[in-house]
Amino acid sequence: MKVTILGAGPAGSTAAYYLAKGGISVELIDRVEFPRDKPCAGGLFNPLLFDNEFPHTKNFPGKDLFKAHFSCGNYSFNFESKVPLMRTSLRSDFDQFLLNKAVEAGADFSIQKNPSPAGKCIIDATGAKKIQDYPRAGICLVNDFPVTEEIDTVYIHYGYQGIKGYFWLYPKHGYANIGVGAYLPQKGIRSLYNSFIDLLEKKAIVSIDKRSCNTKIIPFSTAKSLYSESVLKIGDAAGFVRPGTGEGIFFAMLSGKIAARSIIENKDFAWYEDQCIHEFGIYLKSAAVGFPTTLLNKIMQKVVKVGSKDEEFKKRFSENFFRLEHCRLGASLVKNIFK
Ligand SMILES: Cc1cc2nc3c(=O)[nH]c(=O)nc-3n(C[C@H](O)[C@H](O)[C@H](O)COP(=O)(O)OP(=O)(O)OC[C@H]3O[C@@H](n4cnc5c(N)ncnc54)[C@H](O)[C@@H]3O)c2cc1C
Repeated sequence: MKVTILGAGPAGSTAAYYLAKGGISVELIDRVEFPRDKPCAGGLFNPLLFDNEFPHTKNFPGKDLFKAHFSCGNYSFNFESKVPLMRTSLRSDFDQFLLNKAVEAGADFSIQKNPSPAGKCIIDATGAKKIQDYPRAGICLVNDFPVTEEIDTVYIHYGYQGIKGYFWLYPKHGYANIGVGAYLPQKGIRSLYNSFIDLLEKKAIVSIDKRSCNTKIIPFSTAKSLYSESVLKIGDAAGFVRPGTGEGIFFAMLSGKIAARSIIENKDFAWYEDQCIHEFGIYLKSAAVGFPTTLLNKIMQKVVKVGSKDEEFKKRFSENFFRLEHCRLGASLVKNIFK
């Protein structure tokens, strides 16, 4: 059997890697040249978990971060962890690394501007496209700005100037990734983005020479359908992003790994859907429930206020944000609550 994968982002390259390792003939197609950039913060949450789940990524040279600063309204707190909270990198580097692994494993990669694949088994890993494809989506603005001094703290700023979402600064080797993610609809996001950079400069956290940014939609709920007769959706195409943080790389790769397993073990596409829901889908759904957009800023102000006074609460909140436990644990917890 031959499998065609459209899209060589983390989802597509991971599916291709595991399929090729499993002895399946794989054609991996992207419509653009690699290395390519993708508007993203480039943060791998919980790097230890990442290395465990995807051992072939263990030697990827990112920047491990142990410190975080959360703020909302008049409140803020710092958190420091003994284990890395996040590993950051440029997406162009990480995605090229994953693509190389897929090709080394035996996947056949090509660039085609308008691919029209035929066949019984096509994997759609083409990323997020139209807002209408997802019941709930957000908008993000982001850029990697070169910096001369290394930054060692992740900055998360909720509800800045009333925005329903959060601004961030994720430090990378030689760069500060500055972005914002907000639930739709959101007016005036570009001027708010500039105003957040003003704030970071005023606090002497960064100094940015030339400002610019990319815009991209982000799914906050699973796509309306995950498969048809011959096409299976993985990653952002399937809407596998954690609402509340926008984390999607891990779930893109995990869904690619599960898709590969379903094909290698000759399971049907319904098995793939069930497995994704079992492994992380319930967790993503519960995260969506936990973040009602209308109350978001009030909740986050309260959370950061309590965190600024209560060490135990601060620790639990921060560990949850960076997902220092496997999502399967979160999923089983939610299952038990609703039993
Ligand atoms: C601003 C922003 C910040 C984010 N920050 C983080 C973060 O810090 N950590 C995190 O975990 N997640 C983050 N995410 C989410 C993360 O970027 C995505 O979840 C992840 O990229 C999904 O991977 P993917 O492989 O499904 O899709 P993509 O990475 O989007 O890859 C899709 C690929 O498909 C190709 N393609 C598209 N159409 C076609 C076609 N017709 N034929 C062939 N190829 C095609 C594209 O060229 C692309 O290479 C962020 C998202 C945004 C928007």
